[in-house]
Amino acid sequence: MPAAVYIGDGAIEVRHIPIPALGAGDALVEISHCGICGTDLHLVLERYARPGSVLGHEWSGTIVALGADATGWELGARVVLDPTPGCGHCRACLRGRPSVCLRREPPDLLDFSRGAFCRFKVAPAARLLRVPAALSTRAAALTEPTAIALHSVNLAGVSPDDRVLVTGGGPVGLLTTAVLRSRGVREIVVSEPAPARRERALAVGATAVIAPDELPRAPMGRPVSSPFTVAFECSGHAAAAESALDQLDYAGTFVFVGTGSAPPRVNHNRVIVMEQTLIGAYNYDAAGFRPALELLSSGALPLDRLIEPVDIGLDEVLTTMHRLAAGELPGKVMVAPEAPA
Ligand SMILES: [Zn+2]
Ligand SMILES: [Zn+2]
Repeated sequence: MPAAVYIGDGAIEVRHIPIPALGAGDALVEISHCGICGTDLHLVLERYARPGSVLGHEWSGTIVALGADATGWELGARVVLDPTPGCGHCRACLRGRPSVCLRREPPDLLDFSRGAFCRFKVAPAARLLRVPAALSTRAAALTEPTAIALHSVNLAGVSPDDRVLVTGGGPVGLLTTAVLRSRGVREIVVSEPAPARRERALAVGATAVIAPDELPRAPMGRPVSSPFTVAFECSGHAAAAESALDQLDYAGTFVFVGTGSAPPRVNHNRVIVMEQTLIGAYNYDAAGFRPALELLSSGALPLDRLIEPVDIGLDEVLTTMHRLAAGELPGKVMVAPEAPA
């Protein structure tokens, strides 16, 4: 099957690799769509990925074969893969954070050897979730990043009367904004340097947008004149995180969502005297992907503005990654790997 394979040195090539073997409890899924994630950009453009990796983890597809023990499914079923559940009993799981379950092997953060920028993927049938009838298979590829956005919003305990700042208007910031809007948050300001992304942020639910250099510096030990009660840092840039912390009110909550290579400087004195809470949001809630599938199929999210209108083929993955990194494409780009056989 054709696959977009990372070959090292920041390069991707379409190569033919074997279709993975089907175990007794597995389903063979033909990938319909797979979104390009910020993680994929870091792995390729910053050259962390291992040569030979096939990236892409935000996928949806259709079952085309079933192992002998894979029950409860039929060929043609439209599916996404639920994340591995936590043990349910450790300290992390009991606090609703199965992403960091303590009874799990520490994750290999560079293991992206079996992603979905390819035509077929094998998955345990017991962990597949059916895509609701009201949701297209294409839009179902937004399930994983939507689950990420739900997790960060839930961890922050946002309520409708919060005044929320989102820094970074790329796909993660846009989804976070749309999820906040679906929760009835009345004031959502998105800070983003690229005009096209600012415009898209307004289209997906931001109530105002601002260029990062318009955000004020904070006076010592006191809030800015219009502070925020919650901030989601979705850009991964140190300067954005530092500025977002400056905008936070007394007892405000700051959530790190976007990863980046240079760490921000945190003024601990400010965090102390203003009693602020800093949270890291890594993956998903204990409920897995079901709430994300429900939200996506509810019609509450502007799917056509969260997803870029033109899907790309496997041969366009690398050039598109460069365009995403340059901020040219505001929404989620979907790879459609259906092959010329
Ligand atoms: Zn992702
Ligand atoms: Zn656990």
